[in-house]
Amino acid sequence: MHVGIVGGGAVGLTVAGDLAERGSAVTLYERDDLGSGASGRAAGICYDAFADPTDAAVATRALERYREWGLLSPCPYVWVARDERDARAVREQVAEMRALGLDVEELTPEALGDRYPAIETSGLTACAVANDAGTVDPDAVVDYLTDRARTAGVTIHTETTAALTDPTTVATPDGSETVHDAVVVAAGPATKPLLADLDIPLALETYRAQVLVAEPVAADLPSLYDASREFYWRPWEGGILVGDGAHAVDPDAWDPTADPGFVRSASERFRVATALDPAVARSWAGRCTATPDRDPLVGPVADDYWVATGWQGHGLMRAPAIGEYLAERLHGTTPTIEVPLAEQFDPTRFDGDETFHPLGDPTAEW
Ligand SMILES: Cc1cc2nc3c(=O)[nH]c(=O)nc-3n(C[C@H](O)[C@H](O)[C@H](O)COP(=O)(O)OP(=O)(O)OC[C@H]3O[C@@H](n4cnc5c(N)ncnc54)[C@H](O)[C@@H]3O)c2cc1C
Repeated sequence: MHVGIVGGGAVGLTVAGDLAERGSAVTLYERDDLGSGASGRAAGICYDAFADPTDAAVATRALERYREWGLLSPCPYVWVARDERDARAVREQVAEMRALGLDVEELTPEALGDRYPAIETSGLTACAVANDAGTVDPDAVVDYLTDRARTAGVTIHTETTAALTDPTTVATPDGSETVHDAVVVAAGPATKPLLADLDIPLALETYRAQVLVAEPVAADLPSLYDASREFYWRPWEGGILVGDGAHAVDPDAWDPTADPGFVRSASERFRVATALDPAVARSWAGRCTATPDRDPLVGPVADDYWVATGWQGHGLMRAPAIGEYLAERLHGTTPTIEVPLAEQFDPTRFDGDETFHPLGDPTAEW
């Protein structure tokens, strides 16, 4: 089987490697450099704290593979609430996750403060921790997946924009057209226009997410998501990465530089949450993809024509499991993940003409 992959991010590279290791001849097309899309701009937080059984199974398998590949640094993932409504949600999530067998527990704010003295716990109404979580270095992930794909025999064309002239024929700017037995499009926001060229609609929207990296902090910190203040951080090379500032964006006209307003606001949120005030070293923005129900689009959209996108900011942490799953499906073998992923993530479950805000709440912009 000869498979064409469009997109050299974490997802495209993983599925390429997994297919080649199973004996497929694989050609991967990347319009810029490998990892130049969202994958190289991600925060690199990976966790299994999902209450939905499919999401939890995907995350568990992905963490397992990142560990096997030596790419995961253990780092607990804490999430906190500051009002009663969010606190109820945290408690319900913990109960559901524990019922799925995940190593997740609720902590009192005092216990969180004992474990991480640098966190300002006054004002917290609920806290939870996912103990199996970790972080990855996005550049290291892309490098590892590239080496793995090349070693398995994948032919990689960078700076090669692919177009589809029919579901299995990839046209490149040098005028050549290659017919594959199957094509997988994992092109992030560009997946939608690529499919539109073949009159296949896709329920996909794009938003922009921002992060900053601050100088080293002399404190032991976990990764943390503040559900009430809607921002997160993770330890990053001795310093700290702080993120969010997400808002809807035109996928073709967007600024890869973080907004000064985001840098001010995110630094202030981190300072208030920890009383630490590290200097900001750098910041950037990237594009994420969204779907009407916040579940991704993974599977065939036509005969031998597959897509994988719509990660809602969770694509890097899912890539190892999704790549494996797609390779298994394409080879007709039983997927390692034992959940109804095919139905839940079916890309054709929407008409494709749905109107929706990528962040759910149009007022979420800040
Ligand atoms: C600021 C930020 C923080 C994030 N933090 C996290 C996090 O902590 N954890 C997490 O799991 N996720 C995170 N994400 C989301 C994550 O980065 C993405 O979900 C994931 O990288 C998607 O991988 P991908 O391979 O599907 O897409 P991408 O990495 O976007 O790759 C798609 C590739 O397709 C290429 N392409 C597009 N069109 C064509 C074409 N016509 N021909 C050839 N190539 C084409 C692009 O150049 C691109 O390289 C974050 C994202 C951002 C922006």
